[in-house]
Amino acid sequence: MNAETFPLIPFLDLKAQQARLGPGLKARLDAVLAHGQYILGPEVRELEAKLADFCGAAHCVSVSSGTDALQIALMAENIGRGDAVFLPAFTYTATAEVPLLLGATPVFVDVDPRTFQIDLASLEARIKAVKQAGALKPRAIIGVDLFGQPADWIALTTIAALEGLFTLDDCAQSFGAAQDDVRLGKAADATATSFFPSKPLGAYGDGGALFTESAERAALYRSLRTHGEGTTRYEVLRTGMNGRLDTMQAAVLLAKLEVFETELARREEIARIYDAALKDVVEVPTRMPGTTSAWAVYSVLLPDEATRETAKAALAAAGIGHAVYYPRALHEQPAYRAAHDGTSLPVAEGLGQRILALPIHPDLSDEQAKRVAATLIQTLGR
Ligand SMILES: *Cc1c(COP(=O)(O)O)cnc(C)c1O
Repeated sequence: MNAETFPLIPFLDLKAQQARLGPGLKARLDAVLAHGQYILGPEVRELEAKLADFCGAAHCVSVSSGTDALQIALMAENIGRGDAVFLPAFTYTATAEVPLLLGATPVFVDVDPRTFQIDLASLEARIKAVKQAGALKPRAIIGVDLFGQPADWIALTTIAALEGLFTLDDCAQSFGAAQDDVRLGKAADATATSFFPSKPLGAYGDGGALFTESAERAALYRSLRTHGEGTTRYEVLRTGMNGRLDTMQAAVLLAKLEVFETELARREEIARIYDAALKDVVEVPTRMPGTTSAWAVYSVLLPDEATRETAKAALAAAGIGHAVYYPRALHEQPAYRAAHDGTSLPVAEGLGQRILALPIHPDLSDEQAKRVAATLIQTLGR
């Protein structure tokens, strides 16, 4: 098999998606050009109402990115210097960057070797250690729904309630995922998502949103995203930021929301093709009972780094897109090493050598998914 005889299989195909969206997308963009309200225009409000409705949350506040959503959520709780924020060591950099920017200390927690989600025993041990050391005040848990699958929010909110901690759901990869038929959006005190183009619900630029059941929190988020403004524009109540979602991105997202359910269903179909073809060859993603995934990422585990490198080379030779999320645990990153207390987090430290993500975008055909699986199987010699 080589790239000359078979067309390439891209990791992500936003052009195919754009073609599939058809004239609805352009009509949405033209409407914004016609009214000219580029900041907090009517599409922003419409989108917020539709997103809240989609996930069953009481309030949605759109913001400029997933990172800014995390930041605004922590700013609203006055989390800063001297505060400990517990988060998984195996996630995207933004989860740890935000507490650090606010002067707080990220406390890295190990992850489960099967689900890759925050490990509950490690979380309890890390909370206990911080309390015993006495230098930091435990304030918040950021649970990440990694790769599209929900973290164990029942357990996380139970631990948080016992310890009096704020819970923030980093749902950047998982908007649309559900636990027991309830979509993520109200599992934690606040939920932050991202509309970065490669996320399951992606814009054509940066964007994000916050969800909460609390009217007070929603009002704070609206104030913080517009420089801490009060009831009138030039009343400044608190230090905020410029963190609004722009109207053009809201228009794109409104067009995409129309096909989002269909896309989620298609991602699930592709995941099942991979599961069936690959389950005896590699470790396929573990699904927790009662959950549905948004399948932002379909990652398999190879037995060791050498095999993973062989698989990467074979996919590259066949013109098949692939990626490694994440090559390194966050506490091992140069920027975050100094914030870490040196505790070993063996699972997070080992995953980066063995993990490999396969294409799972909604425009992938059955035939293409089968070809990806066949290439992997052939490479591994099974
Ligand atoms: C993408 C991502 C973010 C950040 O979202 P942006 O919109 O890119 O700022 C945060 N957390 C996780 C887990 C992500 O995957």
